[in-house]
Amino acid sequence: MTIPLNVRQRVRERANFACEFCSVRETDTGDQLTLDHFQPKAKGGDDSFDNLIYCCVRCNQYKLDYWPAHSDDPKLWNPRIEPFSKHFLEFDDGTLYPLTPTGTFTLRRLRLNRLPLVAYRLNKRQQAEEAQLLIRYRDLVDLLEQLNKQMSVLMEEQQRLLKEQRDLLRLLVDRKD
Ligand SMILES: [Zn+2]
Repeated sequence: MTIPLNVRQRVRERANFACEFCSVRETDTGDQLTLDHFQPKAKGGDDSFDNLIYCCVRCNQYKLDYWPAHSDDPKLWNPRIEPFSKHFLEFDDGTLYPLTPTGTFTLRRLRLNRLPLVAYRLNKRQQAEEAQLLIRYRDLVDLLEQLNKQMSVLMEEQQRLLKEQRDLLRLLVDRKD
């Protein structure tokens, strides 16, 4: 299979440098991912841009050259055409739940609930939650700073009023004398 470098680059960019099946990124694996022919060449697929999928080594290995031979054979999810959310639901614990027969088949064929992948999803969820918490924490610190400033202004004002009161009292006492 020789796909021109510029096509490979366009496929990478289109996929945002992540496996289109399982979302694992180049920066997670430490290398570029592979190109997969959604419809395998051995089963009549071509090198067209639309038939190429950016795919991690594992998903590619599990997918192999699957292609439904008959119209009632199960179909694989095509991430180029349909969104993930149509076929899968991701649980809080990082496991996927299939929503359609295509989802069920793809999950089983590509082993999308393989343990390291579930751990990876869970990790990503936790990182996202931590990032959210950090944003909230920063907002809170900003709010506290603002409150602190307002308190200082109020304190100054109060001290000024107290001084005025003291001066007035002194004036009154002086007059009595
Ligand atoms: Zn993958």
